[in-house]
Amino acid sequence: MLSRHIAVSALVIVAQFGSPRAADTVTLTNAAGDENGVVAWGSRIQETGVGISPVDIGKISKGVTHIASCVVGHPPALDDSFTWTPGDDDAPLTYPEPFRVSIKLWVLCANAGCTSPMDPAVKTTLDACFVWANERLREERAGFSLEQSGGDAWISDETATTDSTLTSLRQFDTQRDCPKNLSKASRILSVDHALNVFMVESVDGETGDGNSCDTQDRAILGHDVSCGTFLHELGHNFSLGHVWTGMGGEKNIMRKWSDTRELFTAGQVFRIAFSDTSGLNGTLTKNPNPTPWPASRNCDGSAKQNCPPIDLMLWGTP
Ligand SMILES: [Zn+2]
Repeated sequence: MLSRHIAVSALVIVAQFGSPRAADTVTLTNAAGDENGVVAWGSRIQETGVGISPVDIGKISKGVTHIASCVVGHPPALDDSFTWTPGDDDAPLTYPEPFRVSIKLWVLCANAGCTSPMDPAVKTTLDACFVWANERLREERAGFSLEQSGGDAWISDETATTDSTLTSLRQFDTQRDCPKNLSKASRILSVDHALNVFMVESVDGETGDGNSCDTQDRAILGHDVSCGTFLHELGHNFSLGHVWTGMGGEKNIMRKWSDTRELFTAGQVFRIAFSDTSGLNGTLTKNPNPTPWPASRNCDGSAKQNCPPIDLMLWGTP
């Protein structure tokens, strides 16, 4: 029996490795002709592919239960229940329609000392940050774009306010003001279902820092903030934590300190869309916007296999 067992095992090995690798593919609709990134994963196995649909993703093994894809211009596509067979399979995936998130910027302070109204140059700088942020969100396949709430009036000069709740935020202190006083301010200045961002003189004494106060739809920015920090704080609104090592290093938008932020990993992009702590699965996608796609899930701790690894990169090199 022993020798027969060995012979059978050898046959299995030949079947697995002696013949050309079978190919499973993913056919993607809505983004024909574009380069797609695909990941398939389960309890531990993961295959990836990048290319024009249908995308070859190698041979998917038993235990792989999730498949997702991202592309420029759409939220990620996801299927949690495609049944893979031992033969060649082609899984269909459809990208959701493009999604927009409104953003409103309330300027409580526009210069050192908060002594004057907002200079036109400040608006020019912030408009440029808006354009840059949308470019990065698009290039990194983040799945949504920002939309200026109120059009050109997306930046509201509130520097003349005498409301003590608002003026008390100008020298923002995380311990004191986050999130209670920020919530109070949001009851005075706020657009529903939008990202409401407050520009102040400084955050914890730093004019170039920001804070999201662990909210899904609010942020604070020092008056001297860079475009990278602007987008970084929004990343927190969409569930992302800080990146300390790897994942593109200082180029990662979620790096705590960096002057060269520009990229998200694919794992971060999936969390922006799917994490139940992302603003996209909270108030930002409630009426009048379309309802959130039914894919939100816990991506952390023991449930982290619900999402692909956060350091997954499908495009680019760090
Ligand atoms: Zn941060």
